[in-house]
Amino acid sequence: MSNQGKCNLCDGASYDPVSSVDRHGAALNTVICVGCGLVQTHPMPNEVEMAEFYRLEYRKRYKKTPTPPMKHIYRSGHRCLARLEKAKAHIKANMRAVDLGSGAGEFVFLLKTRGLQAQGIEPSEGYGGFAKNTLGLDIQIKPIEEAEVKEESLDIITAHHVIEHIVDPLKSLSTLAKWLKPGGKILAEVPNINSRMHAPSRRFHFAHIYNFSPETFVAVGKKAGLGVEEVQIEPGTGHIFAVFTKNGQDNVQMDLEQGLLETRNILRKHTEFSHHLSAYPYSRFFNNLRRPFREKSAISGQTDPKELLQHIYGSD
Ligand SMILES: [Zn+2]
Repeated sequence: MSNQGKCNLCDGASYDPVSSVDRHGAALNTVICVGCGLVQTHPMPNEVEMAEFYRLEYRKRYKKTPTPPMKHIYRSGHRCLARLEKAKAHIKANMRAVDLGSGAGEFVFLLKTRGLQAQGIEPSEGYGGFAKNTLGLDIQIKPIEEAEVKEESLDIITAHHVIEHIVDPLKSLSTLAKWLKPGGKILAEVPNINSRMHAPSRRFHFAHIYNFSPETFVAVGKKAGLGVEEVQIEPGTGHIFAVFTKNGQDNVQMDLEQGLLETRNILRKHTEFSHHLSAYPYSRFFNNLRRPFREKSAISGQTDPKELLQHIYGSD
């Protein structure tokens, strides 16, 4: 295949096909770059198409309910506490932080309760508007490249399941690097194409333009001029959590060639059949089964999203 244009990571232009359907069985072409192993959508949508997707998708979702249901806020609040655990070693009160793709604002809200000066950047009007108007947060409702952030003004940027949605991650990471003070950090989590924890048929999603491995994720950060202080594979999900630094520690070296072989191996061997023989799908099923009971009692009587979040986050 040659009409993909240049690979965002290695500038190569040679790709092998990986899949022709998304997780719902709809047409979606996914390819792997033979130069670096970066798995990506083919053809690459452009930034205008993606901006339109977020605007329309979220407007559709919010047509009936102008605010997220309380059980979504409850779940998201708890997920944010887990995110904070991972971020804890890198943040302090009074730091200036931006949460990228801040959604309904739950993480920005949490950072503020811990004393940070936090704001959000969010492309969708539905979520962003809720965070701004109902939670009273400082949110810029625009794509990254249009956001107004002073150069060298931030200590921390958090990006939780965001970078896989970006059309040009190299350009966007370079933009983020400009916003960081020297020594500033980007705490980023993305799904892991090399994880065996997700059903192969669920692997590809229209909005996930890039399917990173630990190797390709580290490499794109370095190409954007960032150091890599640490990389963790999340035990429960297999997701990749990386700490990128500006003029800071650069402790992680990874071999792209090795990552490419591993990705090819996973794509070949990790079939639907072998997945269902492993324990992962079942433990997930039972966890999901227990969830509604806990939630119902926790949110009963709660009607104010702000109060619910304050309750979950405590005062610490
Ligand atoms: Zn490449």
